[in-house]
Amino acid sequence: MPVRRIVVAATAVVVTAVPLVLSLSTGAQPGVGAPSGPGKAASNSRLKPPAKESVATGSGGAVSSVNPYASRAGLDVLRHGGNAVDAAVATAAALGVVEPYSAGIGGGGYFTYYDARTGRISTIDGRETAPDRMKSDAFIDPSTGKPIPFPEAVNSGLSVGVPGTPATWQKALHDWGTLSPAKALEPATRIADDGFVVNDEFRAQTEMNEERFRNISSTAKLFLPHGELPVVGSRFRNPDLARTYRQLAREGMGALYRGAIGRDVVRTVQHPPVAPGSDTKVRPGLMAAGDLAKYTALRRDPTHTTYRGLDVYSMAPSSSGGTTVGEALNILENYHLSAADRVQALHHYLEASRIAFADRNRWVGDPAFSDVPTKELLSKEFAKDRACLISPTATLTSPLAPADPRRPGTGCPKRTGSPAPYEGPSTTHLVTSDRWGNVVSYTLTIEQTGGSAITVPGRGFLLNNELTDFDFTPLSKDVPDPNLPGPGKRPRSSMSPTLVLKDGRPYLAVGSPGGATIITTVLQTLVNRVDLDMSLPEAVAAPRISQRNRKDTEAEPAFLDSPERAALERLGQHFVEAPKTFTPSPEIGAVAALEFLSDGRVQAVAEPKRRGGGSAMVVRRARR
Ligand code: GLU
Repeated sequence: MPVRRIVVAATAVVVTAVPLVLSLSTGAQPGVGAPSGPGKAASNSRLKPPAKESVATGSGGAVSSVNPYASRAGLDVLRHGGNAVDAAVATAAALGVVEPYSAGIGGGGYFTYYDARTGRISTIDGRETAPDRMKSDAFIDPSTGKPIPFPEAVNSGLSVGVPGTPATWQKALHDWGTLSPAKALEPATRIADDGFVVNDEFRAQTEMNEERFRNISSTAKLFLPHGELPVVGSRFRNPDLARTYRQLAREGMGALYRGAIGRDVVRTVQHPPVAPGSDTKVRPGLMAAGDLAKYTALRRDPTHTTYRGLDVYSMAPSSSGGTTVGEALNILENYHLSAADRVQALHHYLEASRIAFADRNRWVGDPAFSDVPTKELLSKEFAKDRACLISPTATLTSPLAPADPRRPGTGCPKRTGSPAPYEGPSTTHLVTSDRWGNVVSYTLTIEQTGGSAITVPGRGFLLNNELTDFDFTPLSKDVPDPNLPGPGKRPRSSMSPTLVLKDGRPYLAVGSPGGATIITTVLQTLVNRVDLDMSLPEAVAAPRISQRNRKDTEAEPAFLDSPERAALERLGQHFVEAPKTFTPSPEIGAVAALEFLSDGRVQAVAEPKRRGGGSAMVVRRARR
């Protein structure tokens, strides 16, 4: 991307680039900005990053997320009598402050919920939608007739979908929570006011985005204070976001859909604040006030399948998460997988995923726009049909063609299909439970790490680039593509916030970020736990491999060094190192999960290492 370095006037006072110890000992420093609004006394204990643990076992409720400030926000809500839904919203709002490049009110997500009173699982589709003016050729440059280069589409108003996250929080709290949105936003508002301590991940994610952040004046002002990367150990405040959260608390989420915040969103999308001196083209978007006003977070039935006697629920289209994880599990159920033959278990895991991705790319899109065969994709007959493709001694060739799940008995022939679409990694996942037995699994995102790179001026949050999840052109000339852009349409997602029941009671809650690798990460975690005798912490920590109907299977370095690699290559599998993102070593996914143990305790599990390690917490810790 052509980028000129631009020096940004240092008007922001969001970061104290002084050692933390100074901030702690003297409170707000003159010249570095005092926290504004309520809760301004930045108490030392609140600012200090909570201790980070990747496993916590106990009772009374649990939270797991990628960030300790966010997990603590959820835990505080549980401790004060809130339920799992309240805690999930509080955790998510805090992630909007401390993980602003992965999620926030400028984005969308999918929320799954187990209600202990009714025993039912419900979901909310809070996916961003395309504006009404978006047509199927929206990402074709009229001057060339060719697709807009992907980075140019990402860094543009054109990629910004109508945010679904505020509406998701409102609906979840209204339908199942006990707190008002105002109360649920309080812990996050405090963090935005007081600040958090910049860690290696936050700096690395900013660094990875530095060039594109410099192109947008509002983003550079907020995230490159004084024109520099945030210093590890310094305090990062976001008073603009604190004010925005307070306005949402006062006026309700309607302030974003029908009020002043919404007007700012529309203005920013239509006129991205390109930094003076930047010669980078930032295309304006098509969003109008009417698109925001009519946004609805949708209650949908979850997907459901069984796997070795467990009930597996996840997200239905517009996400492809539930159907693809479910189809792969259904295929795998035709085989006995065990730790005793890890190579065959992994081979079957890869092949099932390859097949399920071929079907996903052909059939899954926004169900309001095409007839998505959700039930048929999840049928055991279809899976049995597809399983016949798998050989224990050879690997299928990708791209493999899809089959038609509506025509039983036609799934076996090996044919060549269309190449897989490009999908990148980012996003965040959280899980919560409470003392009453309710459980939430919630994945939220602004799409790419750093989203569209466009911050709404004065509002403290980034806008998503979710509309780049549409296919810019049909994947194949002869086959209909359900994931082309369209007015009011939701781009296909891979988010897979999953809940597993055993004998009708919660057993596992799991999910992950990572674009299309979300699906394989959730699938591999389930296979590790259910089939390969791993505890949940082991299942999460194990090296990941991701096959998505491509010739190459992406793998983490630890897998590339394992003995299984050579054995799988002898079967024809082909591995490449997963792409590097902002972490020093390539990673796939970042799971947050819960297991409900047979003795009544809950085990919260976060990543031990990926993304610098996540944060698992329980209300009452079990004695060891
Ligand atoms: N946009 C992706 C999806 O909905 C999530 C973002 C990511 O993890 O890359 O599947």
